[in-house]
Amino acid sequence: MKDTVAAIATHPRFRAACDTMRAEHDRTVEDIIRLTEIPAPPFGEEARAAAYLAMLQQHGLEEVEQDEAGNVMGRRRGFGNGETLVVAAHLDTVFPAGTDVRVRREGTKLFAPGVGDDTRSLAVNLAFLRALDAAGIRTRADILFVGDVGEEGLGDLRGVRHLFTKGRHAGKIDAFLTVDSPEVDRIVTGGVGSKRYRVVFRGPGGHSFGAFGLVNPMYAMAEATRGIGAIQVPRTPQTTHCVSIVSGGTSVNAIPNEVRIEVDLRSRAPAELARIDAEFRAIVERAVAQENATRDTRDGTVSAEIIPIGDRPAGGTAHDNPIVAAATAAVAYHGYTVSYEDSSTDANIPMSLGIPALRIGSGGRGGRAHSLEEWIDVEREESLRGMSASLLTILAAAGAELD
Ligand SMILES: [Zn+2]
Repeated sequence: MKDTVAAIATHPRFRAACDTMRAEHDRTVEDIIRLTEIPAPPFGEEARAAAYLAMLQQHGLEEVEQDEAGNVMGRRRGFGNGETLVVAAHLDTVFPAGTDVRVRREGTKLFAPGVGDDTRSLAVNLAFLRALDAAGIRTRADILFVGDVGEEGLGDLRGVRHLFTKGRHAGKIDAFLTVDSPEVDRIVTGGVGSKRYRVVFRGPGGHSFGAFGLVNPMYAMAEATRGIGAIQVPRTPQTTHCVSIVSGGTSVNAIPNEVRIEVDLRSRAPAELARIDAEFRAIVERAVAQENATRDTRDGTVSAEIIPIGDRPAGGTAHDNPIVAAATAAVAYHGYTVSYEDSSTDANIPMSLGIPALRIGSGGRGGRAHSLEEWIDVEREESLRGMSASLLTILAAAGAELD
């Protein structure tokens, strides 16, 4: 794979593609700014999706369309037999509607919520398309360019989940690259799975003094929380639990009739995630039973309802998989020190289905993602170096035609 990657990298057509990206650098930066300034809050990606759909149309792709989930996409036809590589970037940001998304520019730095995660990648994928076309580079695999919805938070990967499990491309995608955030040296090969719940503890409620002795859902909730905190987890594969939000109660002088917690369980390994998930459920059940056995249930018992609010499957792409070799060689070729990471990205979905998938970078530097002070640096040389590495990864994964 190292030789294949070097052969592509030194080919005149790949050099021509890089020259196009260089010549169009300002346009790419303009596209980043334009897309960043279209708000795309969770579950509110429509406006940005419409703009991106129009941009995909202008890039000469086939089958440009929006699917039922809201993802927008178009196909760059390969010369093979329809084998398909998806190259994606996510449309959504973590920022709620009403957030000021105007871009502030200081030198080569752009500041704005969502500018690096993941708006830059949307623009960079368009730059890749123009570069491939200008250089006349053909690939064996079809490349399906996708701007997907619902990557962040409670979006719960719904866009890519739909693409792989329900949309018309389900079962027909052979590999997946998500271009997500600037850093190209950190290749994500592991998908951290998570299960998130809201647990609602309910009871009869009553006067804190007059009805003293009745079951109290707060005590069941506290016992459950203590139990979750005591779940033993391995360091590798990294597995974690967190009771992160608590709410409820009626008044300081009332036995509450409802309290709630939110719980986040994570692991890199599906089996570990399943194990702590089962333990968590048993702990909640035991805590409820214990409260009902300890206090008076004459006016009703305590119950707990476990409501799923997030479910991201765990998975991974083996390091001897050809796309890992392609990304590693392409990134190293550009002088970066490669590291492999676990994270929770759109790649989780294909990874969990056994389809080779990675997160790669959009190039340049950046920081403070998920904060209002999010920034990227669009300095030309470092940006082009990173973009060139990721384009090389895509071409090695899609099988570039060299003659
Ligand atoms: Zn992202």
